[in-house]
Amino acid sequence: MSSTAVTLDKLVALCKRRGFVYQSAEIYGGLNGVYDFGPLGVLLKENIRSTWLDSVNKFGEIVLFDGAILGPEEVWQASGHISNFSDPMVDCMQCKHRYRADDIDLNKACPHCGNKQWTEVRQFNLMFKTQLGAASGASSDAYLRPETAQSIFINFKNIISTNRVKIPFGVAQIGKAFRNEITPKQFLFRVREFEQMEIEWFCKDAESLKAFEDWCTLRRSYYDTIGLSADKIRMRQHAKDELSHYSRQTTDVEYEFPFGWKELEGIAHRGNYDLTQHSKSSGKDLGVFDEETKSTYMPTVVECSVGIGRLFLALLADAYCEDVVENEPRTVLKLNPLMAPIKAAFLPLTKKQQEPMEKLYRDIKKTLGITAQFDESGSIGKRYRRQDEIGTPLCFTYDYDSENDHCVTVRNRDTTQQERINIDAVAEYIRKALRLRT
Ligand code: ATP
Repeated sequence: MSSTAVTLDKLVALCKRRGFVYQSAEIYGGLNGVYDFGPLGVLLKENIRSTWLDSVNKFGEIVLFDGAILGPEEVWQASGHISNFSDPMVDCMQCKHRYRADDIDLNKACPHCGNKQWTEVRQFNLMFKTQLGAASGASSDAYLRPETAQSIFINFKNIISTNRVKIPFGVAQIGKAFRNEITPKQFLFRVREFEQMEIEWFCKDAESLKAFEDWCTLRRSYYDTIGLSADKIRMRQHAKDELSHYSRQTTDVEYEFPFGWKELEGIAHRGNYDLTQHSKSSGKDLGVFDEETKSTYMPTVVECSVGIGRLFLALLADAYCEDVVENEPRTVLKLNPLMAPIKAAFLPLTKKQQEPMEKLYRDIKKTLGITAQFDESGSIGKRYRRQDEIGTPLCFTYDYDSENDHCVTVRNRDTTQQERINIDAVAEYIRKALRLRT
């Protein structure tokens, strides 16, 4: 029997219990909308990053970039973030509870206290402002970036002139972004500090609509590769009145989270808005010389942008299952092996078999370079459950017969089926089962 009774509360509890995610500064009461990632969370994030990079690299020529988090005011003036990057905010006059005005019905009473007296709706800029150095004054104002993309645009000339790249090519960046969300909510879905994976694809305008379509196809296929359920993913094209100030066309990749269909990734045709804006504002021409026409033009940009935390949450929600095995309920994360934080666990049946199993564990880690765990404490059933709950695809057990037949038992997480294999065949078995590159 199997069910997928996943709720946000269950995911939050599992993440804390097993060291995926903790509320930041928890011992001081917690910081709202900010999370820390524990050992297993870091491994899952690492798998998200590496599979994303593998996937975007398939599109064409891609170079990597890692920009600074702090940026001067001029950058955000030129990009339009200072005037446009805001959400409408409203307060309840009675209980002072604050809401995003587009999140609630202002004709109804405050969901918190039941009164119906609202302040005016005001625009609230989502950028975190800070100051560089000790001197006060406008010259030292700086902002934490609300997206990674702008650092790519302002470095476009540097990148193209110091690398052997020609249009069309892409710049990929993975890094932190910060948004002072009015109401952070739904765990990792809407937070104030997060990590984005962004690709800016620079091409000629005539080729840009095809590139946009091709990126949509590639990004859709990425989610199949990493194992998200196909029926929980959909592509939604933005209506004209929904488009951001810079966008000619946008398609969201949406995922059906436990709280409904929501944006997981945005794919935007940004035209040449950003390069044009930064050229005008900085006085440095960011155009590219075209050998064919002997003239300079501004490349067009297609952007794909996804938050690691949102994808992390989608992966956990998708993989979470509760079923009953041998009359005992278990929680299992049916993660694609590519994404599983721990690929294999090595479990001696009793303390007596510790030494040979520990040796196998070390050998496998050394040979395959995979993440693995050695666990000798508690009943074997409990140890299997512990591994199921964190999504470990394979568990190997060394038992009383192992010394004589030179075999171990391997148990499959999803089916719980067990088979006996020779110890010398374990590395090859893992390689095949996890489809590791040799
Ligand atoms: P939303 O409408 O949900 O606020 P957005 O349209 O503002 O999202 P983009 O500016 O397109 O988001 O950002 C690109 C991606 O970055 C999003 O698809 C999402 O995965 C991630 N992201 C944006 N804001 C947040 C946030 N506050 N917390 C977590 N991830 C975020």
